[in-house]
Parts: sequence; structure tokens; C-alpha cells
Amino acid sequence: MTRFTKITASIGPSCDSQAILADMIKSGVNVCRLNFSHDTGDVQGAKIDLIRSVSNKLNIPVAIMVDIQGPKHRIGAFATEKHYPLKIGQKFILDSDPAPGNEYRVNLPDWDVMKSLNVGDRVLLNDGKIELKVDAVFDDKIETTVVRGDEIWSRRGFNLPDTDVNTEILTAKDKADLEYAITKKPDYVALSFVQRAEDVAFVRDFIAQRTAHPIKIIAKIERPKAVERIADIALASDGIMIARGDLAVELPFEQVPAVSRHIIRECRKLNRPVIMATQMLSSMVHSEFPTRAEISDVATAAYLRADSTMTSEETTIGDNPVNVVQTMDKILSFSDTDTITNPYDWLRIDNVPENDWSRSVSSMAHLNKAVAIVVFAVDTESATQIACRRPDIPIIAVCGSDYVANQLALVRGVFPIFDNYLFGQRLAFESANKFGIGYGKLVIVDDDKISLRTLD
Ligand code: PEP
Repeated sequence: MTRFTKITASIGPSCDSQAILADMIKSGVNVCRLNFSHDTGDVQGAKIDLIRSVSNKLNIPVAIMVDIQGPKHRIGAFATEKHYPLKIGQKFILDSDPAPGNEYRVNLPDWDVMKSLNVGDRVLLNDGKIELKVDAVFDDKIETTVVRGDEIWSRRGFNLPDTDVNTEILTAKDKADLEYAITKKPDYVALSFVQRAEDVAFVRDFIAQRTAHPIKIIAKIERPKAVERIADIALASDGIMIARGDLAVELPFEQVPAVSRHIIRECRKLNRPVIMATQMLSSMVHSEFPTRAEISDVATAAYLRADSTMTSEETTIGDNPVNVVQTMDKILSFSDTDTITNPYDWLRIDNVPENDWSRSVSSMAHLNKAVAIVVFAVDTESATQIACRRPDIPIIAVCGSDYVANQLALVRGVFPIFDNYLFGQRLAFESANKFGIGYGKLVIVDDDKISLRTLD
């Protein structure tokens, strides 16, 4: 049990077979992410069933995260499939006319979105390669000037970094996807392009109207407006994903590391799990080894005490997803227990609320040199609160329900186990034994009772 930082793996064509999933879970995957931007409906449903069956067979709790596409905006089609050059200083019009585009104009299918634009706002096309500045807004068109030029072609995505977009967080496609996903009882739903706490509340209500199952919501932070409102959004949600892909388009990319640190701190302060995502081991789509910079990026997430790192294309379409997980596991395991710099100074935890009972639990463990904290978990609350102290010993969460164990699989330093007998009898020593802990002191948390016992 040397790895405290969890691994969220995106699941795609390279890894959706039973054998590969089993190897990935045995190699350390804690959360499986299914991206509904690609497959939907029964195709994703079959993957959810498969992951559940592999996790049950291996008796390893794994959280399932359904990632909903959200309002990702695209421009319309051009007259031909060729690439059209947009040159700095030229005028370019975005309009509601469905006619095919050319180098001077293109249609915007989500015309409603454009009503939120103001003069001076930026419109970024094609992953930010092209920047337009809004000169004038009319009922049926937006006039812009090209500030950064490149080539553009049909149906490229666009981002509006300066604009508070006034559309619903769920598109018609998202609603259909979510309706379906809910029937599969995922542990987490990840929401793309969240802008405000109300977006999360809207989706919580949407889910509550359809199921009583306690599905948790992860807000993906990929817009500057969401960064500004991070505390409110974190409080409204059950966890945060730092979605660096779109974030690095909407923010100047050099700000992304600082913003990531800020988000991790806020999440710890507010007791919300946080996932560092995107391009962590990208080169491993084809390469057997990570680059030096990637090793450092994964390690940095561990040193910053994020709850989880995440894989993207390297596992969905990569040549060897099992090797990717093993590589991430190796980097995280070393960094989490680094004896070269010994960075774990966990009593000097800044920014975490002072008088929280979880402070007593972690102080008791630290002062008594305990080897583990055992929590009897009716829900995810106590284990998550203790985890936000970032103790350097395992938090063994003995759960009375499978979904609590699965949901806790995401949380840093928590080792969940679903066992009705151990939970019912409150057998702390036997639970610790299951993780190979045979001697030393245990801090035991059972409801609001905290006790210290010695294993020998
Ligand atoms: C991202 O933008 O970093 C991200 C994780 O979201 P998606 O993969 O849905 O674009």
C-alpha cells in the first residue's frame, strides 16, 4: 500500500475487453472514466457492465465515472472540405445563415450561444489556433477581426473564454445520455463546461428526479469563469476535475500550472476530491516509455496531493494501456512515499479548516505513530474528511455498501473494502489484516467515536 494518489483511466477501444480491463485494474486503476463525447447508449452501457463484473470478480472496488459532453460548441460546414486560411487583420463573420461558409463567414448552429457575446470578447477557433475579436453584435450576425490567424475547416470547435454563456448546462444529447447512464448507477457523473454552481445544482436536480441512487457529481473546470467561481462550484459538487485540455485553450497556457495548484488547495480546504487530467502520459499512446516531462507532471500531481491523476488517449487508443497504468502507478508510488525529500509534513497542512474533528483523528494517528486509520463507512463523508488532512498512513474504509466502497476508490489515501461481516461486527483488526497490516497502532473511527488500539 505505497500509492495514495489514485488512478483514473479513460476507457476506449484499446482497453474495453475483459482481459485488458482486468490487467489494468490489477495494475492499479481505481476509477474508470467513460467519455460520452464518443460512444453513447448501449455501447457505453455494455462497458459499464463489463467493468462492474471485472471489479466484482477481482474483489477490487472501482468507481465508474460517466463523462457528459456538455455544451461543446462547433462552427457549421464550409462549402468544400478544403482548409480556409484566416489572415491577421481580416474581417470574419459568424452568422445564423445555414449556407455553407467561406473565408469571410461561417454559420453557427448554436445561435443562442452567440447572444451572450459582447463587443471585445474573444472567440477561439480550432483549439485556440485562431483568435477572433468581436467588433459588433447584431441580431443575425457577429462581426469580428482576426487577431491570430491559421487555417479553418468544417465543424471545428470554438471556445468563448471571456463570455458568461447563458445556455443550459445540458444539451438535448446530454439529457438523453444522462437519462441512460443513470439507469446504470454510475458512481460519478462528470460535467463538462460548468460555469457556475447553479449548473451543478441543475444536474443534481435532474438526477434526483430520476433516481434515489446517490450518484456523485464531478465538475470539470475548463473555463476561466469556473476558475473565478471555484469555491462555489466545489461546494455545489462532490469533486472537481482539472480539465487541462480546454482550460489551456481558454486560459493563457502558462497560467494552467498555477491555476491547477489553486484549484487543488481550494478542493482540500472544502473537502472535495480533485482529479488532475489530460496529457499526463500522452507520448505513451505509441511509446513504451514516458517522457521526462511527463514523469515530472505525474509526480507533481502527487506532490501537490491531488486525489487522482487521469489517463486520456494513452489508455483509450494507446498501444499498451496496461503499461500506461503500470507506469503511472510506479511514478505515483515513488512520489507518494518519497524518502529523498520526505515532503510529507502533514501536520502543517495549510488552508484546511482548523476545528474539524478530522484534525483530531489525524493528530491522534500522528502522535501515536499509528500504522493505519480504520473508518467504518456508512457513507463517503468521514473517510473523505480524514483524507483531506492527507495523512501519510492508509485510511482503511470498511464499507457497508458496495457503492460507498466504489465511490471512495477515487479519494486519496483511502483503501475501501466492501465486507458486510467486517462492517457489521466492526472488526478493525481483521480489516487491517486484509491489507497486510499485522502489527502497530490503529486509530479506529466509528461514527463519532475515535479510539486507539494496538495490533500485535
Ligand atoms: C479536458 O478538456 O481536459 C477534458 C478532460 O475534457 P474532454 O476530454 O471531455 O475534452
